[in-house]
Amino acid sequence: MSGANQPRVPDPNGSTKSPKGVGNDPREQNPDVEEAPGKIWFRDLDEAVIEADRCIQCASCVAACPSDSIGIDAEEKRPTLVKMCTGCSRCWDFCPRSGLRYERALELLDQERSLAEPETYAARATDAAADAGQDGGAVTALLAELLAAGEIDGAVVARESEDEPLRGEAFLATSHADLLEAGGSIYTQTMGLGQIDDLLADADLGPNPDLALVGTPCVIQGATALDRYGHEPADPIALTVALMCTRTFEHERLLSQIESYDVDPEAVEKLDIRDGTLAAFDDDGEILLETDVEEFDAAGLRGCDECADFVGGAADISAGNVGSEDGYSTVVVRTENGRDVWREAADGLETTEIDRPEALEKIAAWNERRAKSILPREFDPEAEIGITYERHREAYDGTDREPQPLNPARVHQYEEWC
Ligand SMILES: Cc1cc2nc3c(=O)[nH]c(=O)nc-3n(C[C@H](O)[C@H](O)[C@H](O)COP(=O)(O)OP(=O)(O)OC[C@H]3O[C@@H](n4cnc5c(N)ncnc54)[C@H](O)[C@@H]3O)c2cc1C
Ligand code: SF4
Ligand code: SF4
Repeated sequence: MSGANQPRVPDPNGSTKSPKGVGNDPREQNPDVEEAPGKIWFRDLDEAVIEADRCIQCASCVAACPSDSIGIDAEEKRPTLVKMCTGCSRCWDFCPRSGLRYERALELLDQERSLAEPETYAARATDAAADAGQDGGAVTALLAELLAAGEIDGAVVARESEDEPLRGEAFLATSHADLLEAGGSIYTQTMGLGQIDDLLADADLGPNPDLALVGTPCVIQGATALDRYGHEPADPIALTVALMCTRTFEHERLLSQIESYDVDPEAVEKLDIRDGTLAAFDDDGEILLETDVEEFDAAGLRGCDECADFVGGAADISAGNVGSEDGYSTVVVRTENGRDVWREAADGLETTEIDRPEALEKIAAWNERRAKSILPREFDPEAEIGITYERHREAYDGTDREPQPLNPARVHQYEEWC
C-alpha cells in the first residue's frame, strides 16, 4: 500500500526506522552490511506479530508478498519465509496487526460506499443449503445461486481437514455439491487468502475466473486493502463475504479445551457459538458440551483481542447469527456489488426482518470496547492508514505484546534469505 501508507516515507533524519531486531538477529552478526533505509523485512513482522503471539492467521502478508517469499508452514500453520525476502515492506503494510490501521481502512471504505445505509436481513436457504449451513445456510445458498447463474466461477471457503478434527482448510468450491460439503462454520483460520493462486492452479476454471472469498472479518480487511491499494493486476476476487466474529481459536488449544470436558474432539461433528454459549454436537445432533464461551477464551487467538470489526465492515456482505432466530442467518449487505448479488440469489433465499437488531449493535459495541482496552496503540479511525515500524515499536515496546526474538529454529532462514 505504498501510496496509502504515507508515513513510511523516510523521515528528515534519513531513516524511517530505529535499529531493528529484538535478538537472534542475523544482521547483528553482520554489522558491516548496510541496510537500505525504510525497508521493513518479513523478519520484523515475524518478531512484532507472529513471535509476539499476535498473529490472527489472516494470510494478508502471504497474499501481499510480490515475490512469493512468504509461504505457510505446513506444521505450524503460520506464515513463514520460503525464499529470499526483498525487504519490500508489503507484508508489514497489509498486516492488520502491524502496518495496516484497520479502523482507518474501514472508515475510508464507509465513506466511499454508495449505499446510504447497510441493508440487514434475517435469511435462510430454501433448499438443502438450510441443513448444510451453520445457521440459515444463507451463505451457502447465496454462493450456490451465484455459481448457478454464472456470476462466480468458484468460492474460496473452508472444510474440515481429513487428518485433524476441527482444523479448517481452504477449499475452492466450484459446484453445488462442493458448497454443500463446505457448509457450516469452522472456528479456526484456513489462511485461504494466501492460497488462492495454489487453489486456482489445481482447478480448471479457465482464464480470469471470478471468485467469492469467504472469511473472518480480518481476512476480508486484508483482501480489500490489497484490492484498493495493492495494485494487483487481474485480481480474481469478485465478491467478499465476512463471517461475523469475536474470536477464532488456535487449533491445539481448542482441542485441549474440548478434551478438558472429557469430550473427544474426533466425536465433535459441529461446534456452534450463539448468544455467548459454545456448544459441541455429535453426528446425531446430541450435545456433547455446552458452556459459556468465555470458558474457551484461553483457546482464542490472542490477536483477536485487538479486533474491533465484529461485523466485517470491509465485506460486500456479512453473515452471522446474532439478532436472528434459530435457523436463520443475519445478513448485512453493504455495497452495491453485495446488493446486486443478493438480488440475483433471491430465488434460493427466504428473507425477513431480523428479530433483534439491537443485539447486533450491542455485540459490535462490546467488541470495539474490548479492542480499545487491549490495543497498546491508539484506536483512531481518522489517523493515517499506515502505521510505521517505529510508531508500532513506540506503542508496543514494554507491553506484554512487544516484539519477541525470532525462534532460534528459524534464524538460519533469515541468515540465508534476509
Ligand atoms: C471463527 C468464526 C467465529 C464466528 N463467530 C460468530 C459470532 O460470534 N457471532 C455470530 O453471529 N456469528 C459468528 N460466526 C458466523 C456464524 O458461525 C455463521 O458462519 C454465519 O451465521 C453464517 O451462517 P450460514 O448458515 O449462513 O453459513 P453457511 O451456509 O454455513 O456458510 C458458511 C460458509 O463459510 C465457510 N466457512 C466456515 N468457516 C470458515 C472459516 N473459518 N474461514 C473461511 N470460510 C469459512 C464455509 O465453508 C461456508 O461456505 C462465526 C464464524 C466463524 C467462522
Ligand atoms: S496477522 Fe495476518 S498479515 Fe499479520 S502476520 Fe499474521 S497472517 Fe500475516
Ligand atoms: S476476532 Fe477479529 S481478528 Fe479474530 S479472527 Fe475474528 S475477525 Fe479476525
